[in-house]
Formats: sequence, C-alpha cells, structure tokens
Amino acid sequence: MATVAFHTLGCKVNQYETEAIWQLFKNAGYEKVEFENKADVYVINTCTVTNTGDKKSRQIIRRAIRRNPDAIVAVTGCYAQTSPNEVMDIPGVDVVVGTQGRDKLLDYIEQYRQERQPVNAVKNIMKTREFEELDVPEFADRTRASLKIQEGCNNFCTFCIIPWARGLMRSRKPESVIAQARKLVEAGYKEIVLTGIHTGGYGEDLEDYNLADLLWDLDKVDGLNRIRISSIEASQITDEVLEVINASDKMCRHLHIPLQAGDNEVLKRMRRKYTVEEYADKLAAIREALPGVAITSDVIVGFPGETDEQFENGYHFIEQMKFAELHVFPYSKRSGTPAARMPDQVDEQVKHERVNRLIQLSNRLSEEYASQFVGQVLDVIPERPYKEDPDSGLLMGYSDNYLQVVFEGPQDLIGKVCRVRLDESGAETCRGTLARVLDDSEKVVQ
Ligand code: SF4
Repeated sequence: MATVAFHTLGCKVNQYETEAIWQLFKNAGYEKVEFENKADVYVINTCTVTNTGDKKSRQIIRRAIRRNPDAIVAVTGCYAQTSPNEVMDIPGVDVVVGTQGRDKLLDYIEQYRQERQPVNAVKNIMKTREFEELDVPEFADRTRASLKIQEGCNNFCTFCIIPWARGLMRSRKPESVIAQARKLVEAGYKEIVLTGIHTGGYGEDLEDYNLADLLWDLDKVDGLNRIRISSIEASQITDEVLEVINASDKMCRHLHIPLQAGDNEVLKRMRRKYTVEEYADKLAAIREALPGVAITSDVIVGFPGETDEQFENGYHFIEQMKFAELHVFPYSKRSGTPAARMPDQVDEQVKHERVNRLIQLSNRLSEEYASQFVGQVLDVIPERPYKEDPDSGLLMGYSDNYLQVVFEGPQDLIGKVCRVRLDESGAETCRGTLARVLDDSEKVVQ
C-alpha cells in the first residue's frame, strides 16, 4: 500500500483542506503516515500570510525532500498560489497546485509518475468564480468539526495578501453545507465551526440567500448541539444575523470580530471598512441582543505610521470594548502588499513594548469576562485530558461562550455535552465541577 504524509501550515481553512485532500488519498487506497516518517508521497499545504510563512513553507518542503529523495513531493496552498515559480525552483518539488484544483491532485501525481516532468498546475485564482467542493466527512479531532462555507475575499486590506492567494469571494451551495453538517452529526460531532477566508461574507455572491438564511437552515439540523462562527466582520453582523443568533439555541454566544486597530487614522490606512464609532455601535447592539456574549477579536500592533497617540487611542478603545479575549499580532511586513511599501515602519522594539501592553490588557479583560460566570452552570464539550496535568483525571473543553473550562471527569465524556458549574475563573483557564452529562435528546442550556 502506497503511503502519504501531510504537513499543514497556517489557518483553519488550510487544516480543513488538508483533511479533504487526505480523503482523496484514502479513497484511492493510500495509507497515512506521520510527516517525520518515510513516505511515497509528501503533501505540503503552505501559508503565505507573512514573509515568514513563505520561509517556513520552503523549510518544510526541503525537509520532505531530504526525508525521502525518491518520494513525490506535492506542494499546495497559499504560498504555492502566490509564488508557483519559487516553489517549482526548489529542486525535488514534483507537483505544484495552488488554492484550487486540489481535487485533481492525484491525477497530477499520476501524470508526474508517467512523464517524470514537474507539474505546475497553478491557475489564475482571480478569475475563479466557483467554490471548490472538498468534502470532509470526519476529522482527526473528535470534538469540534470545521465546516468550510466560503472562499476568497473582496476587501483588500492594505496589510493582507490573502485575496491574491485565495481569489474573490465565493460561497458554497447551501444544500452542500447542510449535507455535510448532517454527515458530521452522524459522525458524532456536537459542535460545528463555520469557517472560511471571509466567513461572514457568506452569501454576498448568492441570489436571495445570505448568512442568516444559512444559520437558520443549520439550526434545523437534528442532533447538532452547537454552531460557532469562526470569524465575522463587524459590518456583516446584520439585524437578521443577530435575530438568528438570539433565537437559535444552537448558536454559540461567541463572536470573533476582528478590530485590527482602535484608531480611525490607522483603520483608514489599513483600508478597513468601519470606524471605531461604528464598531462600538455594532458591539453595543450585539450585547443588547445577546447578554453575556463573548466577543473576541484580533488587533495588529505597530502598523506603519502608528504614533504613540494612535496606539493609546487603540488601547483605551479596546479597554472600553471589554473583549473576552484578544489575539495580538505585531505588524509583519508582507511583500506585495501596499502597507509593506508605506513609510514610517514602526521600530521593532516599540512594537514589542506595545504588544506586551496589549497582552496584559487582554489577560485582564479575559479574567473580568470569565469572572461574571462563576457560580453559573455552563454546557462544556470536553475535548481532551487536561494537558498540563494528564494523570489528574481532569478534562478540558469549551463552553458555548468560549470559556476554557477544566473539570474532573472520566475520558469517555470527551465529545459529550456536560453541564458544569463554574467554581473559579481565570484569564486562560477556568475550573469547574461536573453537574451532569446531557444525553443526545436533551437541549443545551443557554
Ligand atoms: S478581510 Fe482583510 S484581512 Fe481579512 S482576508 Fe480579507 S483582505 Fe485579508
């Protein structure tokens, strides 16, 4: 039996697509082996979100080639899409496929086997209008299933290369999303995480069907306990979306809404599509519709031209927004983006200090958010034994409002919906006590 090994860099969408590519190999009779081992075929799913992403992708590609010089090495993903010639120039690379046409990967590998000529199958992604169906009936992870619903982005934020790697916005057919959701429930998943490159943009390219419609249709899927949206732009949280999040008892009380900067001048240079006032108004509307909702966010620190004053404006704005968690990223120049050519690049030391201040603020805000739920009973789906103390009989999982909760319980509870009373809050982890386990017919608490 031929063997295949995978290595994935980057985001949830890349992780999802590697699982889908594995399904193709599995159906063709391949056996999956660890990337550290010798394999007949290596598939590297690359990332290009930063220049470091490119560098790491090249390192992994070379590692595969060294591991088995006789193997067929296939490279896919965003770096392959944006820089196919650079990838083809790496001695030992045999097949290069960008962010489309992965469903033909096995054909390209067979073509290489026959002709022994490297195959460059990268096409112009900006011309693509169809969503590429890549089905994943099950994942290596047993508890939360990603469900890719959308591809591409039309926003062209000045720091971001993604639209050039993924193309313009394309939504998956609703019936295909629902069909996969049913399959994932049959495979035992209680929670589905809707993912994409610009997830909240779902439906913007469809006739008479939008994200709210899709959420209502997913709400009707029997046996599904939780629906989580991986990320959504403030401008895409319409009243209709708020209505379904409020009415459905499957929608998680958690929204990840990237802010990127808390100052209007910086937002303008980033070409973001909102002001801090509009963002704050949207959060106020969300909190009114969904009391206790966890709002998490992303922020870029040290964007070109960011002054001390603009950083302080951002710091105070973030403090007011009371996020449940903040992902803080130091601005990283990505060649080929407008921001990389901007003057006034911020000094690395200054960036470092600003990142630390925001991480401390994020920890304080996370602690404040979690402390509201001490004494309450929350539904938690344990994902694994508590790594920090594996023999302790403790399990770790997330509540619907994205609190990481550790509680005592047997491992056969993994993947089940457990009712847990929160005893102690923390910036990263909360402690709780198991009250009881829900059986499949029971509704979750909200
Ligand atoms: S919204 Fe902006 S940051 Fe996000 S993928 Fe699109 S261009 Fe990139």
